[in-house]
Amino acid sequence: MMTDYKNLIDGEMVDNGRWMEVVNPATEEVFARVPACGKDELDRAVTAARRAFKTWRKTSSEERQKVVQGIAAAIKDNADELFRLLTAEQGKPHHQAQMEIYGAAGLAAAQSTLTLDDVINQDDEERLSRTRRVPVGVVGGIVPWNFPVMMAIQKIVPALISGCTIVLKPSPFTPLTTLRVAELIKDVVPAGTVNIITGEDSLGPLITEHPDIDKVTFTGSTATGKKIMEGASKDLKRITLELGGNDASIVLPDADVEKVAEQLFWSSFTNAGQICVAAKRIYIHEDIYDDLSKAIAEYAKGVTVGDGSQQGTGVGPIQNKKQFDRVCELIQDAKDKGYKFLTGGNVDPTGTGYYVPITILDNPPEDARIVAEEQFGPVMPLMKFSTVDEVIARANNSDYGLAGAVWTKDVDKGVEIAEQLETGTVWVNEFLHISPLAPFGGHKQSGFGAEYGLDGLKEFTYPQVITVKRNAAV
Ligand code: NAD
Repeated sequence: MMTDYKNLIDGEMVDNGRWMEVVNPATEEVFARVPACGKDELDRAVTAARRAFKTWRKTSSEERQKVVQGIAAAIKDNADELFRLLTAEQGKPHHQAQMEIYGAAGLAAAQSTLTLDDVINQDDEERLSRTRRVPVGVVGGIVPWNFPVMMAIQKIVPALISGCTIVLKPSPFTPLTTLRVAELIKDVVPAGTVNIITGEDSLGPLITEHPDIDKVTFTGSTATGKKIMEGASKDLKRITLELGGNDASIVLPDADVEKVAEQLFWSSFTNAGQICVAAKRIYIHEDIYDDLSKAIAEYAKGVTVGDGSQQGTGVGPIQNKKQFDRVCELIQDAKDKGYKFLTGGNVDPTGTGYYVPITILDNPPEDARIVAEEQFGPVMPLMKFSTVDEVIARANNSDYGLAGAVWTKDVDKGVEIAEQLETGTVWVNEFLHISPLAPFGGHKQSGFGAEYGLDGLKEFTYPQVITVKRNAAV
């Protein structure tokens, strides 16, 4: 059955009579439509956001907190419906979709408590100088297809908490759950503060270059991030960019092979590898390489690749055909070059659904495309290393700098290595944990600025310093 979803503009769910189709990646069936918006709808949404900003910017922290907590509750109370829809459009297995939905509600609840208090710079007989944070204004949010709800919420919530209003564009591949959330929060947020409009990629540059948008917060590929920076430079819009990664995991020889095999597997294959901070290069010390690579490949045999709506599925399809083709191309390149596969590598060309088997490569060279490029699919190269200095240099040999991990019983050693990695996040003995209260962002070409925590919130504000001269001659 085909369902039509509407956009949220100025407190109303609306459509414009022009539609884009949404495909279920597990079945390749078109099952829903969303409005195909362009300049007119964007102008309406921006006008509403601008009008709403006039009053929203003056609200108290308590009022904002209440609204954001209302968003958290709306998501949590409807989690069952939302996670099923998320699986249908994104492909991820139900239990992972549930984690995203509850994670988004949790993020909203946790961030609702954040406030940017004034900072006193000077308070003496001469003068009182205080820095306050003022909202930048109307924010344009642009998000990708791998965690559509989480990414939308991580833009909407700090915008509201800081006193901004927002126009958000979901990915054309995964707009549905976000639009259902829009419907659920329609009466929770004041009209115009949150607007969600859908369109093809071509809607993105219209947002970046819109003269009445003050800031763009973007999550997506590095290639698109560069275009956004260029577009935003025309009127010096503020930007936050969360981009791609090619994250390295380093496993030291003291790690317990049986205990880390399963964790390493899921650090790569959760969401079919379509996570910016998924482990995309795993470096294993030569002393345990053979045992650990065997244990990971063995674990992989017990994981089912299939339709995320079916019980028992561990790895779902790739989200869209374009990404599916890209992952297949990387696998084909590895085959053409004669690299060794521990498992996987054979995609069924006649099958329905964008399925790629769990694919693990055995020690391909450092310059292999499958190592040097962000795969963003269920593909994991395992590589051997001999010394710590060597592996740090190899891990850092990337234009990306998003995240990394170190696995060892010697925590001090793990931290010592972590501090030498050129990435915004490094885990020691865990993976994929992102705190809503700590800054998350990329070094090098993985990003610009940060999200989450007070650092993330500050990006939605300008600092304003008010200085009062005491005992002035006036
Ligand atoms: P993408 O860059 O193709 O698209 C992201 C969004 O940008 C979509 O909404 C798209 O419609 C829009 N867009 C496309 N062209 C645009 C343009 N010229 N101007 C403005 N907007 C435009 O990325 P994707 O394929 O949807 O997502 C995968 C990428 O996202 C991966 O590289 C992944 O690592 C990255 N990602 C990063 C993070 C992070 O936090 N650092 C999180 C998730 C995903």
